[in-house]
Amino acid sequence: MKVLDKIRSTVGEANGGAANGGNNNVAFSFEFFPPRAEGMAKVLELIERMVAYSPTFCDITWRASSGDVTLDIANRMQNSIGIETMMHLTCAEMPVEEIDRALDTIKSGGVQNVLALRGDPPLGQDKFVKIQDGFSCALDLVKYMRSKYGDYFGITVAGYPEAHPDVIGDDGVATPEDYQKDLAYLKQKVDAGADLIITQLFYDTDIFLKFVDDCRQIGITCPIVPGILTITNYRSFRKMTGLCKTKIPAEILAALEPIKDNNEAVRAYGIHLGTEMCKKIIAHGIRTLHLYTMNRDESALAILKNLGVIGVSKIPPPLKQQQKAIQEEVTKEEVAKVVG
Ligand code: FAD
Repeated sequence: MKVLDKIRSTVGEANGGAANGGNNNVAFSFEFFPPRAEGMAKVLELIERMVAYSPTFCDITWRASSGDVTLDIANRMQNSIGIETMMHLTCAEMPVEEIDRALDTIKSGGVQNVLALRGDPPLGQDKFVKIQDGFSCALDLVKYMRSKYGDYFGITVAGYPEAHPDVIGDDGVATPEDYQKDLAYLKQKVDAGADLIITQLFYDTDIFLKFVDDCRQIGITCPIVPGILTITNYRSFRKMTGLCKTKIPAEILAALEPIKDNNEAVRAYGIHLGTEMCKKIIAHGIRTLHLYTMNRDESALAILKNLGVIGVSKIPPPLKQQQKAIQEEVTKEEVAKVVG
Protein backbone atom coordinates (compact mmCIF):
# COMPACT_ATOMS: atom_id res chain seq x y z
CA MET A 1 0.00 0.00 0.00
CA LYS A 2 1.19 3.52 -0.64
CA VAL A 3 2.02 5.42 2.51
CA LEU A 4 0.00 8.37 1.19
CA ASP A 5 -3.11 6.20 1.41
CA LYS A 6 -2.11 4.98 4.87
CA ILE A 7 -1.65 8.56 6.03
CA ARG A 8 -5.02 9.53 4.60
CA SER A 9 -6.75 6.61 6.23
CA THR A 10 -5.07 7.44 9.56
CA VAL A 11 -5.68 11.18 9.73
CA GLY A 12 -8.93 10.94 7.83
CA GLU A 13 -8.43 13.56 5.18
CA ALA A 14 -6.95 14.05 1.78
CA ASN A 15 -4.17 16.49 2.51
CA GLY A 16 -2.71 14.81 5.56
CA GLY A 17 -2.30 18.14 7.23
CA ALA A 18 -4.86 20.91 7.36
CA ALA A 19 -7.75 20.54 9.75
CA ASN A 20 -10.56 20.37 7.27
CA GLY A 21 -12.87 17.78 8.58
CA GLY A 22 -10.60 14.88 9.46
CA ASN A 23 -10.31 13.13 12.80
CA ASN A 24 -7.81 13.90 15.55
CA ASN A 25 -5.49 10.98 14.88
CA VAL A 26 -1.79 11.54 14.36
CA ALA A 27 0.10 9.52 11.76
CA PHE A 28 3.77 8.91 12.54
CA SER A 29 6.73 7.18 10.98
CA PHE A 30 10.16 6.02 12.12
CA GLU A 31 13.34 6.30 10.04
CA PHE A 32 16.24 3.88 10.40
CA PHE A 33 19.60 3.52 8.70
CA PRO A 34 21.38 0.32 7.67
CA PRO A 35 23.94 -0.90 10.22
CA ARG A 36 27.23 -2.63 9.60
CA ALA A 37 26.84 -6.40 9.29
CA GLU A 38 27.47 -7.12 12.96
CA GLY A 39 24.73 -4.69 14.01
CA MET A 40 22.04 -6.15 11.76
CA ALA A 41 20.29 -8.33 14.32
CA LYS A 42 20.08 -5.48 16.82
CA VAL A 43 18.63 -3.08 14.31
CA LEU A 44 16.04 -5.58 13.13
CA GLU A 45 15.10 -6.17 16.74
CA LEU A 46 14.84 -2.40 17.30
CA ILE A 47 12.62 -1.98 14.24
CA GLU A 48 10.40 -4.84 15.35
CA ARG A 49 10.10 -3.33 18.83
CA MET A 50 9.19 0.10 17.46
CA VAL A 51 6.73 -1.33 14.96
CA ALA A 52 4.78 -2.65 17.97
CA TYR A 53 3.67 0.98 18.46
CA SER A 54 1.87 0.88 15.10
CA PRO A 55 3.63 3.57 13.09
CA THR A 56 1.94 4.44 9.82
CA PHE A 57 5.11 3.43 8.01
CA CYS A 58 8.85 3.04 8.54
CA ASP A 59 11.67 3.91 6.21
CA ILE A 60 15.25 2.87 5.67
CA THR A 61 17.96 5.14 4.30
CA TRP A 62 20.19 4.52 1.30
CA ARG A 63 23.85 4.75 0.39
CA ALA A 64 25.12 3.18 -2.82
CA SER A 65 27.92 1.45 -0.89
CA SER A 66 25.45 -0.32 1.40
CA GLY A 67 22.57 -0.59 -1.04
CA ASP A 68 22.21 -4.35 -0.73
CA VAL A 69 21.85 -4.05 3.05
CA THR A 70 19.11 -1.46 2.58
CA LEU A 71 17.38 -3.72 0.05
CA ASP A 72 17.55 -6.62 2.49
CA ILE A 73 16.22 -4.57 5.41
CA ALA A 74 13.43 -3.06 3.28
CA ASN A 75 12.31 -6.55 2.29
CA ARG A 76 12.40 -7.78 5.89
CA MET A 77 10.55 -4.73 7.17
CA GLN A 78 7.78 -5.18 4.62
CA ASN A 79 7.49 -8.96 4.68
CA SER A 80 8.80 -10.34 7.99
CA ILE A 81 8.21 -7.46 10.39
CA GLY A 82 5.07 -6.48 8.53
CA ILE A 83 5.24 -2.70 8.36
CA GLU A 84 4.50 -0.54 5.32
CA THR A 85 7.99 0.31 4.18
CA MET A 86 9.54 3.22 2.33
CA MET A 87 13.01 2.75 0.90
CA HIS A 88 15.24 5.73 0.25
CA LEU A 89 17.03 5.68 -3.10
CA THR A 90 19.64 8.17 -4.28
CA CYS A 91 21.09 9.02 -7.69
CA ALA A 92 24.58 9.24 -6.17
CA GLU A 93 26.93 6.64 -7.66
CA MET A 94 23.98 4.80 -9.19
CA PRO A 95 23.90 4.05 -12.92
CA VAL A 96 20.40 3.48 -14.29
CA GLU A 97 20.78 -0.30 -14.31
CA GLU A 98 21.57 -0.25 -10.58
CA ILE A 99 18.55 1.97 -9.96
CA ASP A 100 16.44 -0.52 -11.91
CA ARG A 101 17.91 -3.42 -9.96
CA ALA A 102 17.00 -1.73 -6.69
CA LEU A 103 13.49 -0.82 -7.82
CA ASP A 104 12.81 -4.23 -9.38
CA THR A 105 14.04 -5.95 -6.21
CA ILE A 106 11.72 -4.05 -3.89
CA LYS A 107 8.85 -4.24 -6.36
CA SER A 108 9.11 -8.02 -6.41
CA GLY A 109 9.09 -7.96 -2.59
CA GLY A 110 5.94 -5.85 -2.48
CA VAL A 111 7.59 -2.64 -1.23
CA GLN A 112 5.61 0.16 -2.83
CA ASN A 113 7.18 3.32 -1.43
CA VAL A 114 10.39 5.13 -2.34
CA LEU A 115 11.94 8.36 -1.08
CA ALA A 116 13.60 9.58 -4.28
CA LEU A 117 16.75 11.60 -3.60
CA ARG A 118 19.76 13.00 -5.35
CA GLY A 119 22.14 12.15 -2.54
CA ASP A 120 25.17 14.08 -1.40
CA PRO A 121 28.49 14.36 -3.22
CA PRO A 122 30.97 11.62 -2.23
CA LEU A 123 33.07 12.49 0.84
CA GLY A 124 35.77 14.98 -0.01
CA GLN A 125 33.88 16.44 -3.00
CA ASP A 126 32.06 19.77 -2.88
CA LYS A 127 29.69 19.36 -5.76
CA PHE A 128 27.38 16.60 -6.82
CA VAL A 129 28.55 15.27 -10.18
CA LYS A 130 26.27 13.09 -12.25
CA ILE A 131 27.89 9.80 -13.15
CA GLN A 132 27.76 8.37 -16.66
CA ASP A 133 24.36 6.68 -17.20
CA GLY A 134 23.09 8.22 -13.98
CA PHE A 135 20.78 11.04 -12.96
CA SER A 136 21.73 14.53 -11.91
CA CYS A 137 18.92 15.30 -9.46
CA ALA A 138 15.93 13.85 -7.65
CA LEU A 139 13.63 15.37 -10.26
CA ASP A 140 15.22 13.14 -12.93
CA LEU A 141 14.74 10.10 -10.70
CA VAL A 142 11.07 10.91 -10.05
CA LYS A 143 10.47 11.38 -13.78
CA TYR A 144 12.25 8.13 -14.57
CA MET A 145 10.32 6.17 -11.95
CA ARG A 146 6.99 7.42 -13.25
CA SER A 147 7.92 6.72 -16.88
CA LYS A 148 9.26 3.23 -16.22
CA TYR A 149 7.14 2.01 -13.30
CA GLY A 150 3.93 3.97 -13.90
CA ASP A 151 1.80 4.31 -10.79
CA TYR A 152 3.22 1.33 -8.90
CA PHE A 153 5.35 3.33 -6.46
CA GLY A 154 4.30 5.98 -4.03
CA ILE A 155 7.09 8.54 -4.45
CA THR A 156 8.22 10.83 -1.65
CA VAL A 157 10.76 13.63 -2.06
CA ALA A 158 12.82 15.75 0.32
CA GLY A 159 11.80 19.32 1.16
CA TYR A 160 13.97 21.96 2.82
CA PRO A 161 12.18 24.47 5.09
CA GLU A 162 15.28 26.70 5.13
CA ALA A 163 16.20 25.87 1.48
CA HIS A 164 18.79 23.27 0.50
CA PRO A 165 22.11 23.73 2.38
CA ASP A 166 23.89 24.37 -0.96
CA VAL A 167 22.19 27.76 -1.15
CA ILE A 168 22.41 28.71 2.52
CA GLY A 169 25.06 31.40 2.83
CA ASP A 170 27.64 32.16 5.51
CA ASP A 171 25.03 34.27 7.29
CA GLY A 172 23.00 31.09 7.83
CA VAL A 173 20.14 31.92 5.49
CA ALA A 174 19.27 31.53 1.83
CA THR A 175 18.46 34.65 -0.14
CA PRO A 176 14.74 35.13 -0.84
CA GLU A 177 15.45 34.39 -4.51
CA ASP A 178 17.26 31.12 -3.74
CA TYR A 179 14.52 30.12 -1.30
CA GLN A 180 11.86 30.72 -3.97
CA LYS A 181 13.91 28.80 -6.56
CA ASP A 182 14.17 25.90 -4.14
CA LEU A 183 10.40 25.94 -3.64
CA ALA A 184 9.76 26.10 -7.37
CA TYR A 185 12.07 23.12 -7.86
CA LEU A 186 10.22 21.22 -5.13
CA LYS A 187 6.98 21.88 -7.02
CA GLN A 188 8.61 20.46 -10.15
CA LYS A 189 9.36 17.25 -8.23
CA VAL A 190 5.74 17.03 -7.11
CA ASP A 191 4.39 17.86 -10.57
CA ALA A 192 6.62 15.12 -11.98
CA GLY A 193 4.88 12.54 -9.80
CA ALA A 194 5.94 12.77 -6.14
CA ASP A 195 2.97 12.45 -3.83
CA LEU A 196 4.50 13.19 -0.43
CA ILE A 197 7.22 15.47 0.99
CA ILE A 198 9.35 14.75 4.06
CA THR A 199 11.37 17.66 5.33
CA GLN A 200 14.91 18.16 6.41
CA LEU A 201 15.35 18.54 10.17
CA PHE A 202 14.64 21.96 11.68
CA TYR A 203 14.48 23.47 15.16
CA ASP A 204 12.53 26.63 14.43
CA THR A 205 8.95 25.46 14.09
CA ASP A 206 7.83 28.80 12.66
CA ILE A 207 10.20 28.28 9.74
CA PHE A 208 8.58 24.91 9.03
CA LEU A 209 5.06 26.34 9.27
CA LYS A 210 5.98 29.21 6.94
CA PHE A 211 7.50 26.71 4.51
CA VAL A 212 4.22 24.76 4.44
CA ASP A 213 2.29 27.98 3.78
CA ASP A 214 4.74 28.97 1.05
CA CYS A 215 4.38 25.55 -0.58
CA ARG A 216 0.59 25.89 -0.52
CA GLN A 217 0.90 29.36 -2.05
CA ILE A 218 2.65 27.97 -5.11
CA GLY A 219 0.20 25.10 -5.51
CA ILE A 220 1.90 22.20 -3.74
CA THR A 221 -1.04 20.33 -2.28
CA CYS A 222 0.44 17.00 -1.16
CA PRO A 223 1.13 16.26 2.53
CA ILE A 224 4.30 17.87 3.88
CA VAL A 225 5.61 15.78 6.74
CA PRO A 226 7.95 17.43 9.26
CA GLY A 227 11.21 15.54 9.86
CA ILE A 228 11.88 15.61 13.61
CA LEU A 229 15.36 14.89 14.93
CA THR A 230 15.43 14.88 18.71
CA ILE A 231 18.52 16.30 20.41
CA THR A 232 20.20 13.48 22.31
CA ASN A 233 23.78 14.69 22.56
CA TYR A 234 25.09 18.25 22.45
CA ARG A 235 28.14 17.62 20.26
CA SER A 236 26.32 15.58 17.66
CA PHE A 237 23.52 18.16 17.64
CA ARG A 238 26.00 20.95 16.87
CA LYS A 239 27.75 18.83 14.27
CA MET A 240 24.52 17.88 12.54
CA THR A 241 23.06 21.38 12.53
CA GLY A 242 26.41 22.63 11.23
CA LEU A 243 26.38 20.15 8.35
CA CYS A 244 22.77 20.90 7.49
CA LYS A 245 23.16 24.64 8.15
CA THR A 246 20.08 24.46 10.34
CA LYS A 247 19.01 27.57 12.22
CA ILE A 248 19.15 27.06 15.99
CA PRO A 249 16.89 29.51 17.81
CA ALA A 250 18.72 31.49 20.54
CA GLU A 251 16.49 30.10 23.31
CA ILE A 252 17.52 26.54 22.41
CA LEU A 253 21.21 27.42 22.55
CA ALA A 254 20.64 29.22 25.86
CA ALA A 255 18.82 26.22 27.32
CA LEU A 256 21.55 23.82 26.22
CA GLU A 257 24.57 25.88 27.26
CA PRO A 258 24.45 25.13 31.02
CA ILE A 259 23.65 21.42 30.51
CA LYS A 260 25.73 20.62 27.47
CA ASP A 261 28.10 18.27 29.33
CA ASN A 262 25.29 16.38 31.03
CA ASN A 263 24.02 13.82 28.53
CA GLU A 264 20.99 12.83 30.58
CA ALA A 265 19.90 16.46 30.91
CA VAL A 266 20.46 17.10 27.19
CA ARG A 267 18.40 14.05 26.31
CA ALA A 268 15.58 15.14 28.62
CA TYR A 269 15.65 18.63 27.13
CA GLY A 270 15.61 17.13 23.63
CA ILE A 271 12.47 15.17 24.47
CA HIS A 272 10.85 18.27 25.97
CA LEU A 273 11.75 20.39 22.93
CA GLY A 274 10.65 17.72 20.44
CA THR A 275 7.34 17.38 22.26
CA GLU A 276 6.71 21.13 22.22
CA MET A 277 7.63 21.38 18.53
CA CYS A 278 5.27 18.53 17.64
CA LYS A 279 2.47 20.02 19.77
CA LYS A 280 2.76 23.30 17.89
CA ILE A 281 2.82 21.54 14.53
CA ILE A 282 -0.24 19.46 15.42
CA ALA A 283 -2.01 22.58 16.72
CA HIS A 284 -1.57 24.00 13.23
CA GLY A 285 -3.48 21.04 11.80
CA ILE A 286 -0.51 19.04 10.55
CA ARG A 287 -1.02 15.61 11.99
CA THR A 288 1.72 13.54 10.40
CA LEU A 289 5.15 13.33 12.06
CA HIS A 290 8.34 11.74 10.77
CA LEU A 291 10.84 10.80 13.46
CA TYR A 292 14.50 10.38 12.56
CA THR A 293 15.33 7.71 15.15
CA MET A 294 19.09 7.45 14.48
CA ASN A 295 18.46 3.79 15.34
CA ARG A 296 17.44 4.58 18.91
CA ASP A 297 13.99 4.22 20.38
CA GLU A 298 13.98 6.15 23.64
CA SER A 299 13.46 9.77 22.53
CA ALA A 300 11.07 9.08 19.65
CA LEU A 301 8.84 6.94 21.86
CA ALA A 302 8.97 9.43 24.73
CA ILE A 303 7.80 12.25 22.45
CA LEU A 304 4.92 10.19 21.09
CA LYS A 305 3.99 9.20 24.64
CA ASN A 306 4.04 12.87 25.75
CA LEU A 307 1.77 13.74 22.83
CA GLY A 308 -0.64 10.98 23.82
CA VAL A 309 -0.14 9.36 20.43
CA ILE A 310 1.03 6.07 21.95
CA GLY A 311 0.07 4.58 25.29
CA VAL A 312 2.31 4.99 28.34
CA SER A 313 1.94 1.35 29.30
CA LYS A 314 3.53 0.23 26.07
CA ILE A 315 6.83 2.04 26.68
CA PRO A 316 9.53 -0.44 27.62
CA PRO A 317 12.21 0.54 30.13
CA PRO A 318 15.12 2.12 28.26
CA LEU A 319 17.35 -0.63 26.94
CA LYS A 320 20.48 1.34 27.56
CA GLN A 321 23.07 -1.31 26.86
CA GLN A 322 21.41 -2.23 23.63
CA GLN A 323 21.02 1.37 22.57
CA LYS A 324 24.66 2.08 23.35
CA ALA A 325 25.72 -0.79 21.12
CA ILE A 326 23.48 0.39 18.32
CA GLN A 327 24.64 3.97 18.69
CA GLU A 328 28.21 2.84 18.23
CA GLU A 329 27.22 1.93 14.68
CA VAL A 330 26.62 5.60 13.90
CA THR A 331 29.68 6.87 12.15
CA LYS A 332 30.02 10.55 11.43
CA GLU A 333 29.54 9.86 7.73
CA GLU A 334 26.32 7.98 8.37
CA VAL A 335 24.99 10.81 10.49
CA ALA A 336 25.66 13.25 7.69
CA LYS A 337 24.02 11.03 5.10
CA VAL A 338 20.91 10.43 7.12
CA VAL A 339 20.05 14.08 7.45
CA GLY A 340 21.68 15.41 4.33
P1 FAD B 1 17.41 17.41 -5.27
O1 FAD B 1 15.97 17.48 -5.00
O2 FAD B 1 17.82 16.86 -6.58
O3 FAD B 1 18.04 18.85 -5.19
C1 FAD B 1 18.66 19.41 -4.09
C2 FAD B 1 18.69 20.91 -4.30
O4 FAD B 1 19.47 21.22 -5.45
C3 FAD B 1 17.30 21.47 -4.56
O5 FAD B 1 16.65 21.77 -3.35
C4 FAD B 1 17.61 22.65 -5.44
O6 FAD B 1 17.99 23.72 -4.65
C5 FAD B 1 18.82 22.20 -6.23
N1 FAD B 1 18.48 21.62 -7.53
C6 FAD B 1 18.78 20.37 -7.94
N2 FAD B 1 18.35 20.16 -9.20
C7 FAD B 1 17.79 21.31 -9.59
C8 FAD B 1 17.16 21.72 -10.79
N3 FAD B 1 17.04 20.91 -11.84
N4 FAD B 1 16.68 22.97 -10.85
C9 FAD B 1 16.79 23.79 -9.80
N5 FAD B 1 17.37 23.45 -8.62
C10 FAD B 1 17.86 22.24 -8.53
N6 FAD B 1 20.98 11.25 1.59
C11 FAD B 1 21.43 10.00 1.37
O7 FAD B 1 22.54 9.82 0.85
N7 FAD B 1 20.68 8.91 1.72
C12 FAD B 1 19.45 9.02 2.27
O8 FAD B 1 18.79 8.01 2.57
C13 FAD B 1 18.94 10.34 2.52
N8 FAD B 1 17.71 10.52 3.07
C14 FAD B 1 17.23 11.79 3.21
C15 FAD B 1 15.93 11.98 3.72
C16 FAD B 1 15.40 13.26 3.86
C17 FAD B 1 14.00 13.42 4.38
C18 FAD B 1 16.19 14.39 3.52
C19 FAD B 1 15.64 15.78 3.70
C20 FAD B 1 17.47 14.22 3.02
C21 FAD B 1 18.01 12.94 2.85
N9 FAD B 1 19.28 12.72 2.34
C22 FAD B 1 19.75 11.45 2.15
C23 FAD B 1 20.13 13.86 1.99
C24 FAD B 1 20.00 14.30 0.52
O9 FAD B 1 20.48 13.29 -0.33
C25 FAD B 1 20.79 15.57 0.34
O10 FAD B 1 20.18 16.64 1.02
C26 FAD B 1 21.13 15.96 -1.08
O11 FAD B 1 22.10 17.00 -1.04
C27 FAD B 1 19.97 16.48 -1.86
O12 FAD B 1 19.08 15.50 -2.17
P2 FAD B 1 17.65 15.92 -2.80
O13 FAD B 1 16.94 14.70 -3.17
O14 FAD B 1 16.98 16.90 -1.96
O15 FAD B 1 18.17 16.64 -4.13
